[in-house]
Amino acid sequence: MAYSDSEDQPAGQNWAQSHSFAAQAVQRPADAAEVRELILRGGPVRALGSRHSFTDLADTTGRLISLDRFSPDLVVDEAARTASFSPGLRYGDLATGLHARGWALHNLASLPHISVAGAIATATHGSGDRNGNLSTAVSAIEFVNGTGELTRLSRADADFDGAVVSLGAIGIVTRITLDIEPTFDVRQDLYNDLPWDAALAHFDAITSSAYSVSLFTRWIGDTIEIAWLKSRMDAPAPPTELFGATLQTHDQHMLPGQPAANTTKQCGVPGPWNDRLAHFKLGFTPSNGDELQSEYLVPRSNILPALAAMRALGPRIEPLLLVTELRTMTADRLWLSGAYDTDAVGIHFTWKKLPTEVGNLLPDIEAALLPLGARPHWGKVFAAGVDQLAPLYPRFDDFRALVARHDPNGLFRNGFLERKLGL
Ligand SMILES: Cc1cc2nc3c(=O)[nH]c(=O)nc-3n(C[C@H](O)[C@H](O)[C@H](O)COP(=O)(O)OP(=O)(O)OC[C@H]3O[C@@H](n4cnc5c(N)ncnc54)[C@H](O)[C@@H]3O)c2cc1C
Repeated sequence: MAYSDSEDQPAGQNWAQSHSFAAQAVQRPADAAEVRELILRGGPVRALGSRHSFTDLADTTGRLISLDRFSPDLVVDEAARTASFSPGLRYGDLATGLHARGWALHNLASLPHISVAGAIATATHGSGDRNGNLSTAVSAIEFVNGTGELTRLSRADADFDGAVVSLGAIGIVTRITLDIEPTFDVRQDLYNDLPWDAALAHFDAITSSAYSVSLFTRWIGDTIEIAWLKSRMDAPAPPTELFGATLQTHDQHMLPGQPAANTTKQCGVPGPWNDRLAHFKLGFTPSNGDELQSEYLVPRSNILPALAAMRALGPRIEPLLLVTELRTMTADRLWLSGAYDTDAVGIHFTWKKLPTEVGNLLPDIEAALLPLGARPHWGKVFAAGVDQLAPLYPRFDDFRALVARHDPNGLFRNGFLERKLGL
């Protein structure tokens, strides 16, 4: 069927309402053939996920293409331990479908509301000393590139490691295959007031004390306010006391004043992975809603100087901050991943929605972190441009060459890719 323009919708804003899309319209094809037809109409075009990125990353002066009319078409291959589906699917819906069939993903981000394609394209991550980011679960992708060609790449292909974290620059991804494992149960335990001294002295022991560990701080005072542990029920139980932090006995939101009902069940109550690995529940508002976010993926070997630098900036950070979250992840081989070739620790900032003040502070944060090898999260707000980013990514030029091959006419280029990748 040919695409009907009556499916078009206005471009609107991103989730945080921090960016109004300049695009003329959102086009909503129902399958890969319609995506191809839309690409062959000419550019510029960009893929749009669930709009949770904080900048003009997904934007275009032309048309946005959303997969929200695709059938999810979830296919589980039990022998191969993979699941294939249309990647406009939100993680929460995918997780529900997988769990119902007895399967699980290795990890989730803090929220299940994001589309798989959008999350994979920016190297979105959860936490865990033994967990790669969400993009590392991809075993194959299919995309319609800038010449309208449907391309399939799997791990055996030379370009695969460049094509997964794509920032939407090589095409519209129309199908993704992820690694899966048998479903498992998880409990969440929160600990309050972890002394900074103990956190710094025992950083590795703390982040490896559960399957997934998040530390929430506001950078002032002598303690980290919350250590949030997610433990698999098939692993040893979490400790009753964590290096001086005390076990919390009621459910808690990481942002003061926000309802605990928005968060997934805590207090050690076991539940399926799809109801515990994200901090927030699908049917509720994640985080605060009225906010900006930034994050820097620091090579794990440099985390102590990075934390010292952020604590020194604490008095300037704190007035603009809702909360910081620290998370860990294992090294991977994905060219534009924050954890390319290094175990990494994410230093995340949920900011008050003060774009000017945050924008003025970010260069100083980056002056401290980028020399330590920190890479900004592609989906969040950061100041660095191409000259600062290129040295951080050993495969930067390979990625640009990959884009040139798949998008020779620059259909998918936009202001963000020009500023950050020099495309
Ligand atoms: C409240 C909140 C909490 C968050 N928590 C986390 C977290 O825990 N961990 C973390 O790492 N990040 C987190 N993020 C950031 C978020 O995961 C990323 O911004 C992610 O990219 C958003 O996915 P999306 O579906 O909204 O994509 P969008 O923002 O719509 O798009 C992002 C990019 O993906 C591309 N894209 C989308 N669909 C396709 C497609 N079909 N083909 C090709 N490219 C495509 C777009 O072109 C764009 O370049 C959070 C964001 C918010 C708002």
